[in-house]
Amino acid sequence: MIRITFPDGAVREYQAGITAMDIARSISEGLARKVLAAKVNGQVLDSTRPIEEDASISLLTWDDADGKSTFWHSSAHLMAEAVESLYPGVKFWVGPPVERGFYYDMDLGDRTISEEQLKELEIKIAELAKKNSPYERRLIPKAEAVAYFTEKGDEYKLDLLGGLTDGQITFYHQGNFTDLCRGPHIPHTGLIKALKLTNIAGAYWKGDEKNKQLTRIYGVSFPNQKELDEYLQMLEEAKKRDHRKLGKELGIFAFDDDVGPGLPLWLPNGTVIIEELEKLAKETELAAGYKRVVTPHIAKESMYITSGHLPYYQDSMFPPMELDGVKYYLKAMNCPHHHKIFANDQKSYKDLPLRLAEYGTCYRYEQSGELFGLMRVRCLHMNDAHIYCSKEQFATEFRAVNDMYLKYFSIFGIDKYVMRLSLHDPAKLGQKYINEPELWIQTEEMVRQVLIASNIPFIEVPDEGAFYGPKIDVQIWSTIGREFTLATNQVDFAQGKRFKLEFTNKDNQAETPLIIHRAPLGTHERFIGFLLEHYAGKFPLWLAPVQVKILPISDKFTDYSLEVLRQLKNADIRAEIDDRSEKIGRKIRDTEMLKVPYMFVIGEKEIAENKVSVRKQGKGDAGAINLTEIISTLKKEIIERQ
Ligand SMILES: [Zn+2]
Ligand SMILES: [Zn+2]
Repeated sequence: MIRITFPDGAVREYQAGITAMDIARSISEGLARKVLAAKVNGQVLDSTRPIEEDASISLLTWDDADGKSTFWHSSAHLMAEAVESLYPGVKFWVGPPVERGFYYDMDLGDRTISEEQLKELEIKIAELAKKNSPYERRLIPKAEAVAYFTEKGDEYKLDLLGGLTDGQITFYHQGNFTDLCRGPHIPHTGLIKALKLTNIAGAYWKGDEKNKQLTRIYGVSFPNQKELDEYLQMLEEAKKRDHRKLGKELGIFAFDDDVGPGLPLWLPNGTVIIEELEKLAKETELAAGYKRVVTPHIAKESMYITSGHLPYYQDSMFPPMELDGVKYYLKAMNCPHHHKIFANDQKSYKDLPLRLAEYGTCYRYEQSGELFGLMRVRCLHMNDAHIYCSKEQFATEFRAVNDMYLKYFSIFGIDKYVMRLSLHDPAKLGQKYINEPELWIQTEEMVRQVLIASNIPFIEVPDEGAFYGPKIDVQIWSTIGREFTLATNQVDFAQGKRFKLEFTNKDNQAETPLIIHRAPLGTHERFIGFLLEHYAGKFPLWLAPVQVKILPISDKFTDYSLEVLRQLKNADIRAEIDDRSEKIGRKIRDTEMLKVPYMFVIGEKEIAENKVSVRKQGKGDAGAINLTEIISTLKKEIIERQ
């Protein structure tokens, strides 16, 4: 008998050689139908692999990230089977899962695949899926594998085989298709109930443009049709809400060739949003006892050697500039500058916690192929802060940081979020992780307890912590259900030592502070990109670049319009007059296109009664309202950030 430990800590005994699928079946048939693969002692394996020794296992379903990627990778095999049946002689390179779906790179010889043919391919895939063909694993000697692909004339798989040592070769076989693959895969093709081929593109073999161009077919698949339909609808909606498209239409940001790729220019409308976000952050941080600092955008090489950014992070930094024989680097992170502020004078326990905040401008070298609108840029403005505290203060400080996240989520209407708590692996202490076994266990447990106490949904990921402490990635979903990684919180017990940061504790001893890195609003670039999609450009009143558009029906009403404008400005409401000699219907339509939250229409009747006719974005006509009254309603909406 062997002992199987489940994720909740429960232990059950089974016959040696049992499979994860059998274990699932011993729990319930319903569960067995959903199992896609299993994590056995941390390794994702086929659910049909026999387990010979005591092990900890978790059964992976569609709800697990590893379950999904196994599903998508298996779908790539299924697609390859369909391609081979329609295009005999095709040769395959690799077919990995991606963030959403999968692709397979292939050499079709001189054939091409049209949009029309992609549809035929989808039909073939559906037909093959219905055969419920099991994915079968076979261990074979390397010589046999080489013989198989030599016979097939597939130089790509032979190239892959060349990099493998003998004794480790596995083939996977389903239906009429055999592939060289280390797995794992789902139990059978019948689980793939809905599949869509999303794109076809060229891809150089091994990503090298000197090599032959292969055909890459992208697809995405789901365990039911409903989820595929929802996904396609979400994509359609995301296209309409694309932050690059909206950013241009609404005058938020722009790029210029002479400024350089990945360096966004914030236009006046975008800058209003930036300033409102900073105002929110400053108010919130002030109330939470933070102190603001300002630091230069560059620093000497020596500081980045101390911090360890050089050489470990060098690839992500802009190249240095030399001045008086000394190298200077643009900062990629604000932490080292803040540590120097901590070290500026003697600190005692009475100075802690010290919370230093700065909307810091950082520069990172992203490959030009990786640049993407505001999501991947080379210049970023970060809602950064570093909290220096003692071990005793840590839990309270970390809890306060989480509360700040929750406050922001509620302001921005972010209902769905999850924190990924990345932990260390005790076996890798001193190599991948700083060798402080007790601190690791202590802080991980403190973080875990705070997350539980704050009622924040979170998942734990072993062996993904940062070098210097546990890491908490915050993932959020926009209203249309697209996922964004907003920010990372880190607990750090290494930088303090590297920078020789100390405070005198109550026992008059020198002690190194713990450091919390946090950036709840992430960077302006990514957060505003997210907000553009989240709100579809229809910003709430407090964030809207133009809050009220005054629309006089004719230029006879200019004087009253100017008086309305004056009163709005006095109340700190951002307003503009549309004084074009256009028909009122046209003015309303144009203002709607600009997604301005409120329109005040002004004509004879409104002037006589000292009113304005109010139209609210998305709600239409709200009738004529007394000017003083509507201004105070708007003020309240702005102050409360509704
Ligand atoms: Zn595979
Ligand atoms: Zn930091």
